[in-house]
Amino acid sequence: MKTQDPFLRDLPLPRQFGSELLALERGEGCYLIDVAGNRYLDFGAGIAVNALGYGREDLARVAYEQMRKLAHVSNLFTTRPAVDLARKLVATGDFAAVHFGNSGSEANEAALKYARLYAQRRRGAGHEKLLCFDGAFHGRTMGALSVTPTPKYQAPFVPLIPGIVELPYNDEAALERTLDASFAGVIVEVVQGEGGLRTMTPSFARALNAACRRHDVILVADEVQTGLGRTGYPYACALVGLVPDIVTLAKPLGGGLPLSATLIPAKVNDLLHPGEHGTTFGGGPVTTAVSAKVVETLLEPEFLEEVRSKSQVLDAGLESLRARFDFLGELRGAGMLRGLQVSEARTGSLPELLARIREKGLVVLRSGADIVRIAPPLVISREEIAQGIGILESVFSQC
Ligand code: PMP
Repeated sequence: MKTQDPFLRDLPLPRQFGSELLALERGEGCYLIDVAGNRYLDFGAGIAVNALGYGREDLARVAYEQMRKLAHVSNLFTTRPAVDLARKLVATGDFAAVHFGNSGSEANEAALKYARLYAQRRRGAGHEKLLCFDGAFHGRTMGALSVTPTPKYQAPFVPLIPGIVELPYNDEAALERTLDASFAGVIVEVVQGEGGLRTMTPSFARALNAACRRHDVILVADEVQTGLGRTGYPYACALVGLVPDIVTLAKPLGGGLPLSATLIPAKVNDLLHPGEHGTTFGGGPVTTAVSAKVVETLLEPEFLEEVRSKSQVLDAGLESLRARFDFLGELRGAGMLRGLQVSEARTGSLPELLARIREKGLVVLRSGADIVRIAPPLVISREEIAQGIGILESVFSQC
């Protein structure tokens, strides 16, 4: 029962966040507790961030101990935690180095800059175009925004960076017609986390692999939302056979602290000179020390196996809802990143639907125009999955 209103209003925050926000106080396992003491089962994980759930003593201890030793050094120096984490990440694929940053946008900015630098050094001027796809989301900074071709995000901020080409997602013919040596890079998500949870087809992945190799174009996989176990695999690329040159990571990487990584191959790293890119905070000792523990946990084969197995429970639950309610459309996504298409004509607007679900004690997200996105902490139990499905069922049965 509510003892007081947990919403805060008249906020000294920019209006893009709306006029009122639910204020959260703490988390326990897969539950969030607001300032009025209401508990919510979390099917959102802070937008696919809190993979290991809340209230983790082990992560808190690592952060506390590192804070006391050394909290920040800048990129003029390094620390053991940063180097140890970089070694772990490099070992996840054919990578030579990791550029750390603080957000998904920054990870993608670095990737786009590396793609252009590589093209310029290897092939000279005139190979600077960047290819992106409709429905993509790569971030809000000017470069990342330029490859996020959704009018509502871009329109107020034009002109964006030049040399961007947008194609329909999963359209091999358009890709074959368009990609040539005038491009430096392609940036793509295997599951479009924000744009409606469409998934790359294996044949589009093959076409991307081949076209990028043919023209020596850098293929960037944005695994900010999908990476590190979210789909049951270290990288979602494995689901479809995409073989990227660069992988970007963020959301779950820092265990809730801001940390991102741009994983680069030797062929890019070998062309970089000191001072060509940088960061003040990226890869600090506290975030990387916490991250080492997070990454170690998330990439354990037994942990990933368990995520895949629990994903099937989630899937079965969502399929049972689709069978029961005719206003539910496609089930999209993969692993623990799922999307349920709803007909707003029946459910009311998506924001209202999400609010009704939250009032029943479950936090879910939206994606694209008409998708309820489900991205729980990866440590969620089968019982908690069943409980969340039950809450969805009770809300849907009143639609
Ligand atoms: N790429 C993807 C795939 C994302 O989902 C997001 C954030 N939703 C970003 C990039 C941007 O990350 P950030 O908000 O940390 O800058």
